[in-house]
Amino acid sequence: MLFPDTLKYQNWRRSMVKNLQERGITDKRILAAMEKLPRHWFVPETLLDRVLYDIDYAVGIDCGQTISKPYTVAWQTQLLDAKRQQSVLEVGTGSGYQTAVLCELGLRVFTVERQRMLLDKAKELLSQLGYLSVRYYFGDCFDGVRELKDFMFDRILVTCGAEEIPEGLMRCLRVGGIMVVPVGDIDGQRMLKIIKNGDTPDQWQVEDVGDAWFVPMLQGKVGSLPVR
Ligand code: SAH
Repeated sequence: MLFPDTLKYQNWRRSMVKNLQERGITDKRILAAMEKLPRHWFVPETLLDRVLYDIDYAVGIDCGQTISKPYTVAWQTQLLDAKRQQSVLEVGTGSGYQTAVLCELGLRVFTVERQRMLLDKAKELLSQLGYLSVRYYFGDCFDGVRELKDFMFDRILVTCGAEEIPEGLMRCLRVGGIMVVPVGDIDGQRMLKIIKNGDTPDQWQVEDVGDAWFVPMLQGKVGSLPVR
């Protein structure tokens, strides 16, 4: 049973959206999606607090991971500049909140997570909320998504911090596509927007758009059997 979406939460969301606008989020579709979606359904019930709707606050979920802060979700989504019906690969399903925002934009969403428990939980919640067309993959996707070997995505959104530009993933981005990815090490990550103008790295237009703080993009899977 989902915790009720009372007036209190709706008001918190309205002020969250106002704060996002003041911080430079202009895409009305993203703002509408985030005003609509009860963010508190995506975290453990012990965290039902005002802070969840603070645009600069990332909250812990299971497996030592976090749900990205609202500002980061809105900012990364805006940088992605995706049009309806485009295919987007989300790397790091986590709570599923970002996945739901992408669905609300009318995108064809593929999401991959290396923690089996998080993937299963997100899948269950998103299905319950009626997002039935999301495709889920269990893995670390350093070399792309094994089950989708020849598929080319229009957009790739990485929600964990890579040490360097993930070249394996760049190979599954179509020419003309965009990847948004935080890159760096413990001394600091930068948010990169990469436009793939051609197959070779010298044809990738890399734009550094600001500071980033993400849990690391790690190799290997945690958990058992693949999700079907
Ligand atoms: N988009 C999520 C953010 C979760 S935090 C949300 O809105 O809640 C980042 C997630 O990336 C974590 O769940 C972590 O397990 C996952 N992750 C880390 N390395 C990964 C990899 N190589 N492949 C897939 N997922 C990865």
